[in-house]
Amino acid sequence: MKKDIVVIGTGMAGFGAASRLSHEGIRPVVYDRNDYYGGHTASFRDASGFLFDLGPHISFTKDARIQDLLASHVDQEYEALQVKLDNYWRGLRLTHPVQLHLNGLPHELVVEIIADFVKVHDAPERPVANYEEWLIASYGRKFAELFPMQYTRKYHLTTASNMSTEWLGPRMYRPSLQELLRGALAPWQPEVHYITHFRYPKQGGFLSYLGPLPQIADIRLRHEVVSIDPKARGIRFANGAAVAYDELVTSIALPALLPMIAGAPTDVVDAARRLACSTCVLVNVGVDRADLSEGQITYIYDEDICFTRLSFPHMLSATNAPPDCGSIQAEVYFSDKYRPLDTAIETLIDRVIADLHRCGTLRENDRILYRGAKVVRYANVIFDLERTAALETVHGYLDDIGLHYCGRYGDWGYMWTDESFISGERAAESALSASGRS
Ligand SMILES: Cc1cc2nc3c(=O)[nH]c(=O)nc-3n(C[C@H](O)[C@H](O)[C@H](O)COP(=O)(O)OP(=O)(O)OC[C@H]3O[C@@H](n4cnc5c(N)ncnc54)[C@H](O)[C@@H]3O)c2cc1C
Repeated sequence: MKKDIVVIGTGMAGFGAASRLSHEGIRPVVYDRNDYYGGHTASFRDASGFLFDLGPHISFTKDARIQDLLASHVDQEYEALQVKLDNYWRGLRLTHPVQLHLNGLPHELVVEIIADFVKVHDAPERPVANYEEWLIASYGRKFAELFPMQYTRKYHLTTASNMSTEWLGPRMYRPSLQELLRGALAPWQPEVHYITHFRYPKQGGFLSYLGPLPQIADIRLRHEVVSIDPKARGIRFANGAAVAYDELVTSIALPALLPMIAGAPTDVVDAARRLACSTCVLVNVGVDRADLSEGQITYIYDEDICFTRLSFPHMLSATNAPPDCGSIQAEVYFSDKYRPLDTAIETLIDRVIADLHRCGTLRENDRILYRGAKVVRYANVIFDLERTAALETVHGYLDDIGLHYCGRYGDWGYMWTDESFISGERAAESALSASGRS
């Protein structure tokens, strides 16, 4: 049997790996369990003409090399848009980020938030043990409890006190007292969000960015890896096929990968089981009206509304919906570890539509032209307090047996598409060097 560098996964990481290998003149075989390629970056158009990505995907990379690469994959045919985000909280529409736009809130509440903020603002910086402590130290207790701590329970499915702060990066803006006060007194437009502009393909949804993948790789779909023997260097698939490899680049999610590895020690498999991730049910709705929202993405804080975020694909590219129509994608989150998905998908679609009416996004006389849902089994890595130690154990073992893991679910981080692509490139490089080819 011919041995080679084999890649598992046709998402951004698998694409990055294939792209790096193609620079060495190698056209790798890339396997995927799905009957489509693209992983999380796949796009689907339904019969009524609405296109939905697998979760709202926009490209906001600041890496000029990746920007140029993606632009070339769509022949420079992309939309370049200013990001417009807003928030829904107890019936109010608030500008993003709320900490810089308190003027939309009731006056009494603004006074309480400022009073709490001043208390922490003047306190000396102290080390924090978890995300909750970071939030209170950054914003004061009132704001922290009403906004980010509440959002955390919906999005990360655990409490802020059970989370680390490793994932934060530029995600949560810490205002100065002056900024907080300015935003409390009147509307203003500070440019502080880590995303200000983004790109999105004019045609074909986000998947178009992966255009060259079928040329540079030999893609084998419907090949679900079920076991890996790192000693014999062989893989078996659910369809009965088996292949040998020299080096293996994998973007399989770690909790699924470890139990497949022959001879993996129990403590390592247990550590992989402790890695928490959210599952996202994407409810997609097509409507006979385009003026559904001012922003492309809305964050929903209220815990009695089932979705955490809304996005509007027709606002990313006009080709994502039929003329004069609009589309809504609602994200409803679950987690095996913290809040298992225990509701029938049809029931969830009904709940989403009812809640879209409750928060005013859908009107009484709107006609729904399409409704459907997709379940994204692995969505966001949850940075709970068990993650760091468990990940060290798992990665240490994979390094020992020489598997080249990559991507959001191989590296097990909060990675965007550009980072997943680069992670795939790195894994391919490490495979090349292990096989003595670079
Ligand atoms: C809701 C949501 C919104 C997001 N929005 C953005 C955004 O706006 N911008 C941005 O840049 N990033 C965004 N991201 C992040 C982005 O999706 C990821 O960084 C990236 O797509 C991950 O790529 P990947 O290749 O690592 O993983 P995946 O895309 O999951 O690829 C892994 C592949 O491996 C395959 N596979 C798994 N197990 C097996 C098996 N046993 N056998 C064979 N094949 C297998 C899967 O089918 C899949 O195709 C978002 C993510 C989510 C969840």
